[in-house]
Amino acid sequence: MSLSSVLFSEAKKFIPGGVNSPVRSFSGVGGTPVYFDHAQGAYVFDSENKRYIDYVGSWGPMILGHAHPEVIAAVIQSAEKGLSFGAPTAIETQMAAKICALLPSIELVRMVNSGTEATMSALRLARGYTGRDKIVKFEGCYHGHSDSLLVKAGSGALTLGVPSSPGVPAALAAETITLSYNDIDAVRQTFAELGEQIACIIVEPVAGNMNCIPPEPGFLVSLREVCDQYGSVLIFDEVMTGFRVDLHGAQGLYGITPDLTTLGKVIGGGMPVGAFGGKRAIMEYLAPLGPVYQAGTLSGNPVAMAAGLATLELISVPGFYVELTAKTSRLLHGLQLAADAAGIGFTSNQVGGMFGLFFTDQTPVSRFSQVLACDQERFKRFFHAMLGQGIYLAPSAFEAGFVSQAHSDADIAATISAAATVFQQI
Ligand code: PMP
Repeated sequence: MSLSSVLFSEAKKFIPGGVNSPVRSFSGVGGTPVYFDHAQGAYVFDSENKRYIDYVGSWGPMILGHAHPEVIAAVIQSAEKGLSFGAPTAIETQMAAKICALLPSIELVRMVNSGTEATMSALRLARGYTGRDKIVKFEGCYHGHSDSLLVKAGSGALTLGVPSSPGVPAALAAETITLSYNDIDAVRQTFAELGEQIACIIVEPVAGNMNCIPPEPGFLVSLREVCDQYGSVLIFDEVMTGFRVDLHGAQGLYGITPDLTTLGKVIGGGMPVGAFGGKRAIMEYLAPLGPVYQAGTLSGNPVAMAAGLATLELISVPGFYVELTAKTSRLLHGLQLAADAAGIGFTSNQVGGMFGLFFTDQTPVSRFSQVLACDQERFKRFFHAMLGQGIYLAPSAFEAGFVSQAHSDADIAATISAAATVFQQI
């Protein structure tokens, strides 16, 4: 029995399903989750010190690789000054100024502790600002687990086959309109009928919770037009894409200005951090300036801000995203050649340092229905065989993968070589 199996059995005695977040349980691929002990650069090490090349990166935050010395030093330095004060600190303003500089659509920003909190708060703000209750989201997108947003959701909700959860009041779920990603006609039709009642559209500008689906040309700009026409708030959920696909987010990459943006993952550098921000006129509706209430005991925590700010400084170096994107392309190109050589139906999607792998003959994969039609069983065999080769991929066919600055050419080559072996077996 592996040490991970022993640790998992013990965990299940005290933690529901043994995990503090469902996908970690390997429910999407079967088997026992790997227990990690430490990580460095592109590698995670399990509790028996086996090394894996990591393409999960803590689900996105570790864009610099694990335990980057400058980030760790910033955390230690901050921790030594005390862990939390529940009062304003100067570093919160530095963080806010940095976010506003990198994402010019954000004029004011508030820090929170997770992506879920960010989207939940942005939604309340959009509803408070417009005085409307209905929201539009897209099937297969995941925006955290707050009630309004856990309707036909992606990520773990999809992996577990629980698109919407018991416990979400039907009356609230009824205010959530779920449309098909990349289907602008459905959006226009819905707004023609109900536009005056719709507070906001919330969208992942690159979908990363139903595997990785880029927006089709014209999709995001059409959302902008529809929101302008009906006075609805356009929310880009950039919890995953923010500082992952481009230094200026998906909004910079595609040249679209949302009204509100939600952030998480990379802005915390691995610490529990989220943020939401946007147009001054909307953000001024928040307490203490305005009537919409939102708060947090640990929001803007100085240690978390230190990790996040150090990360944002390091990714601001010129050329960072050119290199990250090129490296990710090299990985995907190599995987495609290896799959082709083995006669496996395979394709991939990529935006910046974010990618998706699909076992299918259909290309490109641009709709949720296509993702569902991929060969899930082959993915499971691929996942486990790659794990055996020391390559750690997301344990679900519905998650995006991530490359970090720390992945070397040798790591990419080793991954392609492992996949060449594995493709022959699956
Ligand atoms: N929005 C998006 C786009 C996400 O990818 C996630 C998490 N994967 C969330 C929101 C929720 O963030 P958190 O898990 O930090 O609550």
